Amino acid sequence: MAPTALAPAQRSGGASPPGRYDRQLDLPGFGPAAQERLRGATVLVAGVGGVGGAAATYLAAAGVGRLVLVHPGALEEPDLNRQTLMRPEWIGGSRVACAEQTLRAHHPGVEIVAIDRELSQLPELGRLVAGADVVVDARHNFPDRYLLNDACVATRTPAVVAAMNATEGNLLVVQPGSPCLRCVFTEGDPSWQPLGFTVLGAVSGMVGCLAATEAIKIISGFGEPAAGRLLQFDLWDLDFRVLRARRDPHCPSCGGQAPGSGEPR
Ligand SMILES: [Zn+2]
Repeated sequence: MAPTALAPAQRSGGASPPGRYDRQLDLPGFGPAAQERLRGATVLVAGVGGVGGAAATYLAAAGVGRLVLVHPGALEEPDLNRQTLMRPEWIGGSRVACAEQTLRAHHPGVEIVAIDRELSQLPELGRLVAGADVVVDARHNFPDRYLLNDACVATRTPAVVAAMNATEGNLLVVQPGSPCLRCVFTEGDPSWQPLGFTVLGAVSGMVGCLAATEAIKIISGFGEPAAGRLLQFDLWDLDFRVLRARRDPHCPSCGGQAPGSGEPR
């Protein structure tokens, strides 16, 4: 039976099964030290729907040690075309609790903190962001995204901003000193509508996987994080473009900070 309310932040976490990460350890530039960095890391995932659920899935699968999941509300039937952490028997129950249970079953070595709250009603948001190594922004509206962006800029916490609509996807990586979300989208993109937009699950899953990959790169030191670049694509005709993002010196969020290593080259 689906739970009607989420218990206070629940935790799992412990040793991962032997051999769990063998197939990724030999990736060029990865190795045991990178795996250890993942194990010691915390990622805050804001939103565990189609995008954030996919990101959380692959962050847990890669061995990120601690995930803080924030998502309000109950599971509904139309969520199931894309939210692969959810199970039909949980309809009516807390979505973030269902995500936690599914992740815990698959990845017992990962500590999960599940918070069934709106970001705007989370007084401890600044503390949670400051305690994260990376934030994955998979919310669906600009007020939440700006809230996260400002907290990340203030605490110099790297963020991966992931968004989709229909067959389109957007990905922006923000690291200290690089252009932030408010530099790139000063007033919010009207196509990123609050709820009600169309969603093909394969598209949201792809955006979530991209976000997880960037978060893993930032934490582990593997690969080259895409700070300062905005990826926009449309799977309708498989059109991909990478735009160079620019710092806005008058940005109300990051305008007072010095450029840093995340500035595009
Ligand atoms: Zn900015």
